[in-house]
Order: sequence, then C-alpha cells, then structure tokens
Amino acid sequence: MSTEVREVVIVGSGPAGYTAAIYAARADLKPVIYEGSVTAGGALMNTTEVENFPGFIDGIMGPDLMDNMRKQAKRFGAELITDDVVEMDLTSEIKTVKDGSGNIVKAKSVILAMGSAYREIGLENEKRLSGRGVSWCATCDGFFFRDQMIAVVGGGDSAVEEATFLTKFASKVVLIHRRDSLRASKIMQERAFNNPKLEIMWDTEVIDVLGADKVEGLKLKNTKTGEESDGVFTGLFVAIGHTPRSELVATQVGLDNEGYVKVESGSTRTNIAGVFACGDLVDHTYQQAITAAGSGCQAAIDAEKFLSH
Ligand code: NAP
Repeated sequence: MSTEVREVVIVGSGPAGYTAAIYAARADLKPVIYEGSVTAGGALMNTTEVENFPGFIDGIMGPDLMDNMRKQAKRFGAELITDDVVEMDLTSEIKTVKDGSGNIVKAKSVILAMGSAYREIGLENEKRLSGRGVSWCATCDGFFFRDQMIAVVGGGDSAVEEATFLTKFASKVVLIHRRDSLRASKIMQERAFNNPKLEIMWDTEVIDVLGADKVEGLKLKNTKTGEESDGVFTGLFVAIGHTPRSELVATQVGLDNEGYVKVESGSTRTNIAGVFACGDLVDHTYQQAITAAGSGCQAAIDAEKFLSH
C-alpha cells in the first residue's frame, strides 16, 4: 500500500467516469480512474453505432467513443487502472479504495461512477443471443430492426417508451407483459394503446429465446392459464428496469429505495463529505451517454471545489 494520498479516485469508466477523469486531470488533480477488469468503457462497449452523441455528424461506434474518451483522459494525465474495485472505505476523511489485485489507493475524494446494469430476464438463451437480436436499448439498436417483428418485455415506462420508439422502425411491436395492467404512466399507456403498430400481449412471460445464431422466435407462457406457445419475432428488447451498481457502497452512502445513490439536488454530493456520484448510478430518468458525461463533468467540478476548501 502506497502512503501517498491522492486528490481524487474515480470508480467506473463509462461516459461519466471518463468525463470526470478528463475534467479532474485538466484541473491538475492527477486522478486515478478504476476502469474495471473486463467492463472498461461501460455499457457503450456493448452497443454498435451511437448516432445521438453530439459532435459526431455521421455517428460513432460505442467502443470507439469510449476509446476516444479514455485516450482524452490519459492525454491530460489521468492514471487508468484496468481492475475492479472490490472494497471502499469512504467514511473517513482519507478514503481508501482496494482493487482486485489487493492494491489500496488513498484519496481525499472519491467520484462514484459505477453505472447501472440492465436487468435481465435471466434466460440462458437471452444471454447467448445478446447482440444477435436481443437488446436492452431501443435507442441504440432499434434502427437495425427496420420492418421486423419485435417483442418488448416489461410493463413500466421504459418498456412502453421503448416499444413506442421501436414502432418507428418495426413492421410490428408486441409488448409482452406478465400482468394484465401496465405500471407505466397513464399518458405513456394512452400513447401505446393508440399506436396502431403496437400490440400488447397481457399475462405473458417469455420463457425462452429461440434461434441458433440470431433470434428467430420466443417461447411464451400465459401466466394465468400456464399455456405455452411460440411466437415469431426477430428482435427481443428487454426493458424490465435497471439495477444501479451501488452494492459496493450500499452500507456507507445514502441510497434511495431503488438502490440509486442519493445526491444533493443540483449537485453530485452524496451524504459523505468528499464523495461524489454521477452517471447512471444516480439517474432514474435519462440514462443517456450525454447526460452521464454531463454529470461526470459536474462531479469533477464538485470534487475540485471540495478539495480547494
Ligand atoms: P419499472 O418501472 O421498475 O418497470 C419494470 C417493469 O418490468 C414492470 O412492469 C415489471 O413488471 C417488469 N418486470 C420486472 N422484472 C421482470 C421480469 N423478471 N420478467 C418480466 N417482467 C419484469 O422500470 P422502468 O420501466 O425501467 O422504469 C424505471 C423508472 O424510470 C420508473 O420510475 C419510471 O417511471 C422511470 N422512467 C420514466 C420514463 C419517462 O417518464 N419517460 C421513461 C423510462 C423510465 P410488474 O409491473 O409486474 O412489476
């Protein structure tokens, strides 16, 4: 363990983490950023073309965008560590962060940017066909399903929003929900009910995803009658909520009842002095690369102010 006390450690390497690193590095805070051992770059590493990140007229591939952010952070002197953080002690004035190799970094401030994970149904073939017809992001992948039969699973705002968005591309979208009423807001429901390209399949769960190399259909089960059937679909969008990756800090930092890190309104300050949180880890609503990047910028500026006092 080094006795050096760093100014700031950033945990997480999505757009929030890398943007925080760029800003912190340019503020001469010499940040250390933990990128994760296998997930460096975050969720965008799993997407193809990103067409809505401002500044790229013709779009950019998700992994290229993250690689650019990474190089930009490095260019200004951020120290990138390709390892997972396995333990943090955030409560003392000097925080400690332990990684998977057993190294411990001490710092005066910590920026949490661990992101969130899309919730999965939990089917073996859902995982196997991920990126081959199974997706968790309509805005990322919807374009590739032009004129196809798409199923969306879920009954909340995300599912209804994704299903509605996908009707722009698909020949038909079937929203598959396990109950007989939606959880989504009324206005979103109305929009869905009035959309001629959107059909709702009630009381139904997906019990298997069919197809050798790509999605060719779904095995469905009626939750009331238990009756099973097959449906022909070439796309499956899973929109059953997100899980913020807050487990590591759950006993120290204030979380809301869905597990998102709570921050003071209009800032990235958590309930612990010197600990800031940004990106999808705090965001129920937007969960976009650009909003995550924006809040990463805020976190670095908040940390800089904290350190200068
Ligand atoms: P959510 O509100 O938690 O809804 C998740 C949905 O997925 C529920 O309908 C749930 O069914 C279903 N579900 C959960 N686990 C499932 C499983 N294993 N198999 C099948 N279905 C499953 O999540 P969300 O829609 O992502 O929304 C999260 C938050 O963001 C909410 O507060 C929402 O209002 C907000 N949001 C807002 C907007 C907007 O305003 N434009 C857009 C997106 C999200 P049950 O209903 O049976 O529990």
